[in-house]
Amino acid sequence: MISVVVPIYNEEELIVRFHEAVAGALKDVVNEWEVVYVNDGSTDSSLELLKGLQEMDPHAVVVELSRNWGHMGAISAGLSTARGRAVILMDGDFQDPPEVLPEMINAWRDGAEVVVGVRRSRQERRKILAGLFPLFYRVLGTLSDYPIPLNAGIFGLMDRKAVDSVIALGEKNRYLPGLRAWVGYKNAIVYYDRQDRAGGDGKLSFLSRIKYAMDAITSFSYKPLRLSFGLFGFSTCVAALMELLIPFTKNPVTAAAFGITGAVFFVGSLLLLSVGVLGEYIGRVYDEVRNRPLSLISRVHRSQIDIATQVGMLAVQNGSFTLPPDNYPERDVTQAA
Ligand code: UDP
Ligand code: MG
Repeated sequence: MISVVVPIYNEEELIVRFHEAVAGALKDVVNEWEVVYVNDGSTDSSLELLKGLQEMDPHAVVVELSRNWGHMGAISAGLSTARGRAVILMDGDFQDPPEVLPEMINAWRDGAEVVVGVRRSRQERRKILAGLFPLFYRVLGTLSDYPIPLNAGIFGLMDRKAVDSVIALGEKNRYLPGLRAWVGYKNAIVYYDRQDRAGGDGKLSFLSRIKYAMDAITSFSYKPLRLSFGLFGFSTCVAALMELLIPFTKNPVTAAAFGITGAVFFVGSLLLLSVGVLGEYIGRVYDEVRNRPLSLISRVHRSQIDIATQVGMLAVQNGSFTLPPDNYPERDVTQAA
């Protein structure tokens, strides 16, 4: 079964059309599928429409959240409700085009465990955002300690393994495209052209986007914490320069100015050094609190005959004649190591 998870917040104009498009894209490619709509506390008629849809089409599943929890909250509720062997995440406003779904499913059938939708182009009515998105991706690309596919949002497919790994992470400030990259597994990319919303207005506020961008950077980079070390180096150089200049000036007032400026920078650099050291500890505390696993196992390959022989030998040694079970299924470990 394939699950499609869609967060919905006040999308009454689009819901019915969207479901038709998703159903149209899936019905010829997969036999068993469900679309999990997560109603994120909509204040319009979205919930009624979704419930109506669910009564008419058994493929639709509706999750009702207790209030508006935001995009990431809705997605994580959807992820834990989805039952599919593979789960596709997409927005319900046609910005992630349903026509791309078969391509993602085929990539998964070809062996990919994570399929990432990467934007080839982007149509954005709001010009400020159109300018800020590339800037954000450039900053994230530069700062990130771990390679995260750029120009990729939540749109993509995850195999059950990857879904379970992401759910198990339990982080609170989630940047899903980053976590999806972080869990690893066999990745594939599907390119698509991102359209503008098919109707209604964007639901994410500017502030929530800033918070999301900060989540992205702080979850995947220690570099901002290390900024103080860089500033410490700069401040120390200025302090040294000031003090070195004193012998070369004849004017006592200028010499005093150099001396005082040097001293101020010196004290500043001591403070920056202390902040940097604190930063190193905070980074480690953050690591411990997030409690990310040290590694994730994708699969264990082990010779089945070998184990059977060993168990058989053990049985003979112990003087028992119990035959070893005839088949040892390949272990498929999805949990954290
Ligand atoms: N959404 C949500 N909760 C919110 C805001 C948005 O579930 O608090 C849903 C919304 O219905 C849409 C998706 O999340 O399906 C993305 O929202 P939007 O299109 O406003 O974001 P943008 O595409 O502008 O980043
Ligand atoms: Mg959108």
